[in-house]
Amino acid sequence: MGSKIELLMQDFEFIDSCMKKVINGNTISIDEAERLISTNNLIKLADSANLITRKFSQDSVDVETLLNAKSGNCPEDCSFCAQSTFYETGITKYPLLPDEIILERAMEAKMNGAASFCLVCAYREPPQIEFEKICKAIERLRKEVDLDINVSLGFMTPERAKRLKSLGVKRYNHNLEASESFFSEICKTHDFADRVKTARIVKDAGLQLCCGGIIGMGETPKQRIELAFSLSALEPDEVPINILIPRKGTPKELEYCSINLMDIIRTIAVWRFIMPKTILKIAGGREVYFKDNGKLALQAGANGIITGGYLTTNGNASNKDIQMIHEIGLDTRIH
Ligand code: SF4
Repeated sequence: MGSKIELLMQDFEFIDSCMKKVINGNTISIDEAERLISTNNLIKLADSANLITRKFSQDSVDVETLLNAKSGNCPEDCSFCAQSTFYETGITKYPLLPDEIILERAMEAKMNGAASFCLVCAYREPPQIEFEKICKAIERLRKEVDLDINVSLGFMTPERAKRLKSLGVKRYNHNLEASESFFSEICKTHDFADRVKTARIVKDAGLQLCCGGIIGMGETPKQRIELAFSLSALEPDEVPINILIPRKGTPKELEYCSINLMDIIRTIAVWRFIMPKTILKIAGGREVYFKDNGKLALQAGANGIITGGYLTTNGNASNKDIQMIHEIGLDTRIH
């Protein structure tokens, strides 16, 4: 056997042993995850991540629609974000949308086959008067639309998180965005610990936690693994994986450090080994990086998608995404 084939075989056996470990309910170590992400045998890695996904989540794909209910003017300086007030990005900015529009968009999402609807607002944390308006909108959504309601409003206090729980909010999104060792490269106005704190408050209030990050910002593969272990420690129900699309006017436009499709697949697959039962939702960047619209990702460990567009960028039409899911023999998650 030539040495290249020997290497592939060694990797095959190593990946197989990690997969069996995970399927039998055990965890992999950081060292093992780092070896997995640098494998030469990407096909075996992706197939194994797919088998782990099928074992714990069967064939269902969680399909979610977002609504950017308050756009722009965020006082934080996250260097990837088009909604930060620090950067001139030319996005459409608007204050909190009225209830009627929020309801209309939720009903559209339901008609288009979404199982959940996430109300997202660009705040560090909402001013009290706007938090009250959001609570009223949630009450109406819960009464008038049969969808799981998720929200993302920035930093939380325990009181506010409990209030959202009492209103019937299912899941709260607050991403870690980047690994602790890379975080200061992407944000100076708050730190990694601030983000972890809100994630813990959300869990303590009994809300489900949606907590993920962005890859392709210049971090190393090791830092992608570091982020996955930090996420896993928070026991999130859902982990959105965004892939950076550098936005005009943001620092990341200039520092753009590309990530290729193979590295995206490696990351998704290894995150599945680290978080075998979590919804891994392929989010922003899917339509840009996956020319097949995400089929590869859904066969390499991902089991969720955002459909119909993102906060400041467009996405695919929902019917096209649902057709894509059915084409690869998977089904949409119906709650
Ligand atoms: S990522 Fe969130 S906190 Fe950071 S600037 Fe954008 S909206 Fe604000």
